[in-house]
Amino acid sequence: MEKPYLWLFNIVAIFALFALVGAVGSYFSHFWLSISLLALAIVAWQSWLLFQLNLWVWHSKKMSPITTFGIFGQLYQGIHANQLKSRRKRKQLSRIISSYKAGSEALPDAVVIIDHDSKIVWCNRLARIELGLTWPEKQAGSIVEAINRPDFTTFITGKRFDSPLEIPSPANGQKILEFRVVPFVDNNLMLLIRDVTRLSQIEKMRKDFVANVSHELRTPLTVINGYLEMLPDAADMPPLMMNKAITEMRTQSIRMQTLIEELLQLSRIEASNERTFDKLVNVPQLLWQIQSEAQALNRDKQHKLFFDISPRLRVYGIESELRSAFSNLIFNAIHYTPDKGVIEVKWHVNQNSARFSVKDNGDGIAAQDISRITERFYRVDKARSRKTGGSGLGLSIVKHVLTHHNSNLKIASAIGVGSDFSCEFSAELTHISNT
Ligand code: ADP
Repeated sequence: MEKPYLWLFNIVAIFALFALVGAVGSYFSHFWLSISLLALAIVAWQSWLLFQLNLWVWHSKKMSPITTFGIFGQLYQGIHANQLKSRRKRKQLSRIISSYKAGSEALPDAVVIIDHDSKIVWCNRLARIELGLTWPEKQAGSIVEAINRPDFTTFITGKRFDSPLEIPSPANGQKILEFRVVPFVDNNLMLLIRDVTRLSQIEKMRKDFVANVSHELRTPLTVINGYLEMLPDAADMPPLMMNKAITEMRTQSIRMQTLIEELLQLSRIEASNERTFDKLVNVPQLLWQIQSEAQALNRDKQHKLFFDISPRLRVYGIESELRSAFSNLIFNAIHYTPDKGVIEVKWHVNQNSARFSVKDNGDGIAAQDISRITERFYRVDKARSRKTGGSGLGLSIVKHVLTHHNSNLKIASAIGVGSDFSCEFSAELTHISNT
C-alpha cells in the first residue's frame, strides 16, 4: 500500500542522521571526516539497493518483491502491484482472444482478413481447408496469389463488392465457393466464404429443368399450331391430308399429356413419404399384367419376349411406383431393341433378396451415357427417343422409385451387344408367400 509521505520521512531521516553523525564527529573534532564517511556509506547503500532493484526488475524470475524498508521497499511493492495488475489484464485479454478464436473457428463460414495490399492478416481454420491457405506458417501471403484466378483478382483489386463472387474452390475444383467482402477495421477487408455447391447445383437443375420442360412442350405445340393455322382452308384440304393432320395433332397432344403425367408422377414420388414396408405387393401378378401390355406393344417389333417370374415372390412396397418402374424398364427394352430382338424379364430370389432384371440384345448404351441416362430429359438419341414417344423421364422415375425402396438401378450395357437393367430388394422387404 502506498505511503504518500515516505519520501519526506526519508529526507528527514537522512538529515537527522547527518545531524547526529555531525554532532558525534565534532565532539571528536572530526566533523568533516564523519560527514564524508556517512555520505559515502549512504551512496554505497543506495547504489546497492539500486543494483538489487535492477536485478529484480530485469533478471529475477521471482514475482514476489525483495523485502526492504523505506522508499525502496515502497518501490518494490509498487512495481509488484503493477505486475499483478498487468498479469490479471493479460489473463483477461487472453481469455477474450481465446473465446473470439473459438467463436471464429465455430463459424460455418470461412473467414479471411486482408490488409489494403491484399495480404492475409488472419484467417480461420475453415479458410485454410477450403482455400488451401498456408497462413500463418507462410506469413503474409497475398490472397490474390493464393487464389490465383483473374476473376478473383479483378473482384478484389476492382473493389466491386456490391455483389458476391462465385468461383470453384482452389483446393477442390468440384466445390463452388461464394465470396462476400465487408470493410473491417484499419482499412482491412473481411472475406466471408461460403460453400454454395449444393445451392448452385439446385439453381442449375432448376434452370435446366425449366429450359427442358419448355423445350419439350414447345415442339408439339409448334406442330399443333402449324396444323391449326391450316384449318381455315380445311374445306379445300384433301381428306387424306386432313386425316394426317388430325392424327399428328392427336400424337402431339398425347405426347404433351404423357410428359405432364410423368412430371407429376416424378414430383409425387419425390414428395412421397409413404412407407415402403407396410404393404405387400403381389409383384408376379403385376408383372403378368405388364406382360400382356408388352405383348400388345410388341406387335410391330416382333421381339421374342421371355418372362421368367417366381410366382410366390413378393416385396413390401408401393404398388403404383413399382408398376411404373418395371413397366418403364420393360417398355424401354422393347423400344430400344431393333425388330425381332430377344428380351428376357426375370423376377427371382437371389441370396435372400428379390431381384428384377430386364435383358435385351439391342443396340446397347455407350459407357459415357450410362452414368447420365437416369438424369431427367437425358436421351442418348433424341430423335429416336421422340419417335418412341419418350420424354426422357422414364429412367429418372425408375431411379426415384428404387431409391424410395432402398434399392438402386444397376445398368450393364455394351454397344452392339445389348443392355441389362436390374435391381435388388433387400431381404427385409422380400417375402415368399405360401400360395
Ligand atoms: P425415354 O423416355 O427417352 O425412353 P428414359 O429415361 O426411359 O427416356 O431413357 C433414357 C434414354 O436411355 C433413352 O432415351 C435411351 O437412349 C436410353 N435407353 C433406355 N433404355 C434403353 C435400352 N434398353 N437400350 C438402349 N438404350 C436405352
